[in-house]
Amino acid sequence: GIKMKVFVLDTAICNGCYSCQIVCKDEHVANDWTPIAKPQPDTGQFWLKMTETVKGTVPKVRVAYRAHLCMHCDNAPCIAACTVEGALYKREDGLVIIDPLKCTGCKACVDTCPYDTIYFNEGLNLAQKCTGCAHLLDQGWKEPRCADACPTGSLKFGEESDFKELINRAETIHPEYAPRVYYLNLPKKFVAGTIYDPVRKEIIKGATCTLSGLSNKHEKLTAKTDGFGDFWFEGLEVGTYSLVIEAAGFSTKRVDSINTEKDMNLGDIPLS
Ligand code: SF4
Ligand code: SF4
Repeated sequence: GIKMKVFVLDTAICNGCYSCQIVCKDEHVANDWTPIAKPQPDTGQFWLKMTETVKGTVPKVRVAYRAHLCMHCDNAPCIAACTVEGALYKREDGLVIIDPLKCTGCKACVDTCPYDTIYFNEGLNLAQKCTGCAHLLDQGWKEPRCADACPTGSLKFGEESDFKELINRAETIHPEYAPRVYYLNLPKKFVAGTIYDPVRKEIIKGATCTLSGLSNKHEKLTAKTDGFGDFWFEGLEVGTYSLVIEAAGFSTKRVDSINTEKDMNLGDIPLS
Protein backbone atom coordinates (compact mmCIF):
# COMPACT_ATOMS: atom_id res chain seq x y z
CA GLY A 1 0.00 0.00 0.00
CA ILE A 2 0.89 3.69 -0.03
CA LYS A 3 3.47 4.69 2.53
CA MET A 4 2.46 7.64 4.70
CA LYS A 5 5.13 10.27 5.12
CA VAL A 6 6.08 12.09 8.30
CA PHE A 7 8.69 14.56 9.46
CA VAL A 8 10.43 13.87 12.78
CA LEU A 9 12.45 16.81 14.11
CA ASP A 10 14.74 16.32 17.08
CA THR A 11 15.31 19.77 18.56
CA ALA A 12 17.98 18.43 20.92
CA ILE A 13 20.42 17.83 18.06
CA CYS A 14 19.51 20.89 15.96
CA ASN A 15 22.41 23.32 16.17
CA GLY A 16 20.67 26.16 14.34
CA CYS A 17 22.87 25.97 11.23
CA TYR A 18 19.96 27.00 8.95
CA SER A 19 20.93 24.49 6.21
CA CYS A 20 17.29 23.36 5.96
CA GLN A 21 15.98 26.88 5.46
CA ILE A 22 18.68 27.70 2.90
CA VAL A 23 18.20 24.60 0.72
CA CYS A 24 14.42 25.06 0.83
CA LYS A 25 14.93 28.42 -0.85
CA ASP A 26 17.48 26.93 -3.25
CA GLU A 27 14.91 24.36 -4.32
CA HIS A 28 11.88 26.60 -4.63
CA VAL A 29 12.92 30.19 -5.36
CA ALA A 30 12.80 30.79 -9.12
CA ASN A 31 12.11 27.11 -9.85
CA ASP A 32 8.80 26.03 -11.30
CA TRP A 33 7.66 22.64 -10.04
CA THR A 34 4.12 22.80 -11.43
CA PRO A 35 1.82 21.01 -10.71
CA ILE A 36 3.32 20.73 -7.20
CA ALA A 37 4.39 24.37 -6.82
CA LYS A 38 5.16 27.47 -8.81
CA PRO A 39 8.31 29.47 -7.98
CA GLN A 40 8.60 30.96 -4.53
CA PRO A 41 9.29 34.71 -4.68
CA ASP A 42 12.84 35.90 -3.95
CA THR A 43 11.87 37.38 -0.60
CA GLY A 44 9.15 37.25 2.01
CA GLN A 45 8.37 33.54 2.17
CA PHE A 46 9.82 30.80 4.33
CA TRP A 47 8.24 27.46 3.50
CA LEU A 48 10.58 26.14 6.17
CA LYS A 49 11.46 28.70 8.78
CA MET A 50 14.06 28.14 11.46
CA THR A 51 12.86 29.73 14.67
CA GLU A 52 15.08 30.83 17.52
CA THR A 53 13.55 31.31 20.93
CA VAL A 54 15.58 33.05 23.59
CA LYS A 55 14.62 31.54 26.93
CA GLY A 56 15.27 33.20 30.27
CA THR A 57 16.89 36.57 30.89
CA VAL A 58 20.52 37.69 30.78
CA PRO A 59 22.76 36.09 31.96
CA LYS A 60 20.69 32.90 32.37
CA VAL A 61 19.80 32.43 28.71
CA ARG A 62 19.33 29.43 26.46
CA VAL A 63 18.49 29.57 22.76
CA ALA A 64 16.11 26.94 21.44
CA TYR A 65 15.96 26.21 17.70
CA ARG A 66 12.97 24.70 15.96
CA ALA A 67 12.25 24.30 12.27
CA HIS A 68 8.71 25.42 11.46
CA LEU A 69 6.89 24.30 8.33
CA CYS A 70 3.51 23.15 7.03
CA MET A 71 2.50 20.29 9.31
CA HIS A 72 0.71 18.42 6.50
CA CYS A 73 -2.24 17.97 8.86
CA ASP A 74 -4.54 15.00 8.51
CA ASN A 75 -7.31 17.23 9.82
CA ALA A 76 -6.32 20.33 7.85
CA PRO A 77 -8.34 23.51 8.30
CA CYS A 78 -6.82 24.90 5.09
CA ILE A 79 -8.31 22.11 3.01
CA ALA A 80 -11.68 22.61 4.66
CA ALA A 81 -11.53 26.35 3.91
CA CYS A 82 -10.45 26.16 0.28
CA THR A 83 -13.16 27.39 -2.05
CA VAL A 84 -12.07 25.48 -5.13
CA GLU A 85 -12.56 21.74 -5.49
CA GLY A 86 -9.17 20.05 -5.63
CA ALA A 87 -7.06 23.21 -5.27
CA LEU A 88 -5.86 22.31 -1.78
CA TYR A 89 -5.63 18.60 -1.27
CA LYS A 90 -3.95 15.80 0.64
CA ARG A 91 -1.97 13.27 -1.34
CA GLU A 92 -2.17 9.57 -0.62
CA ASP A 93 1.24 9.83 1.06
CA GLY A 94 -0.13 12.43 3.50
CA LEU A 95 1.47 15.56 2.02
CA VAL A 96 -0.82 18.59 1.67
CA ILE A 97 -0.44 20.45 -1.63
CA ILE A 98 -1.80 23.69 -3.07
CA ASP A 99 -2.30 23.07 -6.78
CA PRO A 100 -0.92 26.20 -8.46
CA LEU A 101 -3.04 25.58 -11.55
CA LYS A 102 -6.32 25.35 -9.63
CA CYS A 103 -5.76 27.93 -6.87
CA THR A 104 -7.70 31.10 -7.75
CA GLY A 105 -5.93 33.27 -5.19
CA CYS A 106 -9.07 33.81 -3.12
CA LYS A 107 -6.94 33.73 0.06
CA ALA A 108 -9.61 31.81 2.01
CA CYS A 109 -7.00 29.33 3.27
CA VAL A 110 -4.28 31.74 4.34
CA ASP A 111 -5.56 32.74 7.76
CA THR A 112 -7.06 29.36 8.61
CA CYS A 113 -3.69 27.69 9.05
CA PRO A 114 -3.22 27.43 12.84
CA TYR A 115 0.54 27.29 12.29
CA ASP A 116 0.71 30.33 10.02
CA THR A 117 2.57 28.45 7.30
CA ILE A 118 0.65 29.61 4.18
CA TYR A 119 2.12 32.56 2.26
CA PHE A 120 0.49 34.59 -0.45
CA ASN A 121 2.29 35.31 -3.68
CA GLU A 122 0.85 38.60 -4.92
CA GLY A 123 2.75 38.41 -8.20
CA LEU A 124 1.32 35.02 -9.12
CA ASN A 125 -1.95 35.54 -7.18
CA LEU A 126 -1.38 32.25 -5.47
CA ALA A 127 -1.28 30.70 -1.98
CA GLN A 128 2.00 28.86 -1.43
CA LYS A 129 3.67 26.73 1.23
CA CYS A 130 5.87 23.71 1.91
CA THR A 131 5.19 20.82 -0.45
CA GLY A 132 7.43 18.27 1.25
CA CYS A 133 9.33 18.49 -2.07
CA ALA A 134 6.69 16.16 -3.49
CA HIS A 135 8.09 16.86 -6.97
CA LEU A 136 11.36 15.22 -5.88
CA LEU A 137 9.67 12.33 -4.09
CA ASP A 138 7.79 11.64 -7.31
CA GLN A 139 11.16 11.41 -9.08
CA GLY A 140 12.40 8.85 -6.58
CA TRP A 141 13.97 11.03 -3.89
CA LYS A 142 13.56 9.49 -0.44
CA GLU A 143 13.36 12.83 1.36
CA PRO A 144 12.91 16.55 0.69
CA ARG A 145 15.88 18.91 0.36
CA CYS A 146 15.71 20.06 4.01
CA ALA A 147 16.03 16.55 5.44
CA ASP A 148 18.72 15.72 2.89
CA ALA A 149 20.75 18.78 3.91
CA CYS A 150 20.47 18.48 7.70
CA PRO A 151 24.02 17.72 8.90
CA THR A 152 23.05 16.50 12.38
CA GLY A 153 20.18 14.20 11.50
CA SER A 154 17.83 16.43 13.47
CA LEU A 155 15.41 16.85 10.56
CA LYS A 156 14.19 13.46 9.45
CA PHE A 157 11.60 12.52 6.84
CA GLY A 158 10.31 9.10 5.95
CA GLU A 159 7.68 6.44 6.32
CA GLU A 160 5.44 6.70 9.34
CA SER A 161 5.83 2.93 9.88
CA ASP A 162 9.64 3.24 10.04
CA PHE A 163 9.49 6.00 12.65
CA LYS A 164 7.05 4.32 15.07
CA GLU A 165 9.50 4.27 17.95
CA LEU A 166 10.44 7.95 17.54
CA ILE A 167 6.82 9.01 17.08
CA ASN A 168 5.88 7.31 20.35
CA ARG A 169 8.31 9.59 22.16
CA ALA A 170 7.47 12.71 20.14
CA GLU A 171 5.10 15.61 20.58
CA THR A 172 3.06 17.57 18.08
CA ILE A 173 1.98 21.19 18.16
CA HIS A 174 -1.84 21.46 18.20
CA PRO A 175 -2.47 17.69 18.09
CA GLU A 176 -6.13 18.41 17.28
CA TYR A 177 -5.18 19.00 13.62
CA ALA A 178 -3.35 15.66 13.45
CA PRO A 179 -0.13 17.20 12.15
CA ARG A 180 2.40 14.97 10.39
CA VAL A 181 5.38 16.88 11.80
CA TYR A 182 6.58 15.35 15.06
CA TYR A 183 9.02 16.99 17.45
CA LEU A 184 11.41 15.23 19.81
CA ASN A 185 12.85 17.02 22.82
CA LEU A 186 10.88 20.23 22.48
CA PRO A 187 12.43 22.51 25.06
CA LYS A 188 10.97 22.39 28.54
CA LYS A 189 11.29 25.16 31.10
CA PHE A 190 14.17 26.00 33.37
CA VAL A 191 14.66 27.65 36.74
CA ALA A 192 18.08 29.18 37.35
CA GLY A 193 19.76 31.69 39.61
CA THR A 194 22.93 32.74 41.38
CA ILE A 195 23.52 32.46 45.14
CA TYR A 196 25.76 35.00 46.86
CA ASP A 197 26.91 36.27 50.22
CA PRO A 198 26.03 39.99 50.43
CA VAL A 199 28.39 40.62 53.34
CA ARG A 200 31.54 39.23 51.76
CA LYS A 201 30.27 40.24 48.33
CA GLU A 202 31.05 36.90 46.77
CA ILE A 203 29.20 34.03 45.23
CA ILE A 204 28.52 30.88 47.23
CA LYS A 205 29.78 27.69 45.70
CA GLY A 206 28.30 24.30 46.62
CA ALA A 207 25.01 25.60 48.06
CA THR A 208 22.31 22.91 47.92
CA CYS A 209 19.23 23.97 45.98
CA THR A 210 16.14 21.78 46.25
CA LEU A 211 13.22 22.34 43.91
CA SER A 212 9.80 20.87 44.61
CA GLY A 213 6.53 21.16 42.74
CA LEU A 214 3.36 22.18 44.52
CA SER A 215 1.39 19.73 42.42
CA ASN A 216 3.23 16.77 43.98
CA LYS A 217 3.64 15.45 40.47
CA HIS A 218 7.29 16.29 40.57
CA GLU A 219 9.82 14.67 42.74
CA LYS A 220 12.26 16.88 44.52
CA LEU A 221 15.20 17.89 42.39
CA THR A 222 18.49 19.00 43.86
CA ALA A 223 21.39 20.93 42.39
CA LYS A 224 24.60 22.39 43.81
CA THR A 225 25.75 25.85 42.85
CA ASP A 226 28.80 25.78 40.62
CA GLY A 227 31.99 27.84 40.68
CA PHE A 228 29.99 30.89 39.59
CA GLY A 229 27.37 30.42 42.31
CA ASP A 230 24.92 29.33 39.60
CA PHE A 231 22.28 26.62 39.70
CA TRP A 232 20.11 25.34 36.86
CA PHE A 233 17.08 23.08 36.89
CA GLU A 234 16.21 22.14 33.31
CA GLY A 235 13.59 20.01 31.60
CA LEU A 236 10.77 21.28 33.82
CA GLU A 237 7.08 21.14 33.03
CA VAL A 238 5.02 24.31 33.28
CA GLY A 239 3.93 24.58 36.91
CA THR A 240 4.49 26.25 40.25
CA TYR A 241 7.60 25.35 42.22
CA SER A 242 9.28 26.09 45.52
CA LEU A 243 13.00 26.39 46.01
CA VAL A 244 14.94 25.79 49.23
CA ILE A 245 18.56 26.95 49.39
CA GLU A 246 20.92 25.62 52.05
CA ALA A 247 24.57 26.44 52.58
CA ALA A 248 26.85 25.86 55.57
CA GLY A 249 27.06 28.95 57.77
CA PHE A 250 23.94 30.60 56.26
CA SER A 251 20.29 30.45 57.19
CA THR A 252 18.12 28.39 54.90
CA LYS A 253 16.22 30.41 52.33
CA ARG A 254 12.94 29.52 50.71
CA VAL A 255 11.53 30.97 47.47
CA ASP A 256 7.87 30.10 46.79
CA SER A 257 5.49 30.54 43.87
CA ILE A 258 8.03 30.11 41.10
CA ASN A 259 5.90 29.90 37.98
CA THR A 260 7.47 28.24 34.93
CA GLU A 261 4.97 29.60 32.43
CA LYS A 262 8.17 31.29 31.28
CA ASP A 263 11.72 30.14 31.90
CA MET A 264 12.70 31.63 35.23
CA ASN A 265 15.95 33.35 35.96
CA LEU A 266 15.57 34.14 39.67
CA GLY A 267 18.58 36.41 39.47
CA ASP A 268 21.02 36.97 42.30
CA ILE A 269 19.77 35.54 45.58
CA PRO A 270 21.49 36.68 48.81
CA LEU A 271 21.87 34.33 51.80
CA SER A 272 22.27 35.81 55.26
FE1 SF4 B 1 -2.82 23.33 6.08
FE2 SF4 B 1 -1.47 24.79 7.88
FE3 SF4 B 1 -1.99 22.19 8.38
FE4 SF4 B 1 -0.21 22.88 6.48
S1 SF4 B 1 -0.05 23.29 8.71
S2 SF4 B 1 -1.84 21.31 6.30
S3 SF4 B 1 -1.13 24.74 5.67
S4 SF4 B 1 -3.50 23.83 8.16
FE1 SF4 C 1 -7.91 27.43 -2.24
FE2 SF4 C 1 -6.12 29.05 -3.47
FE3 SF4 C 1 -8.27 30.09 -2.29
FE4 SF4 C 1 -6.27 29.04 -0.79
S1 SF4 C 1 -6.16 30.85 -2.11
S2 SF4 C 1 -8.49 28.76 -0.51
S3 SF4 C 1 -5.66 27.32 -2.13
S4 SF4 C 1 -8.27 28.72 -4.05
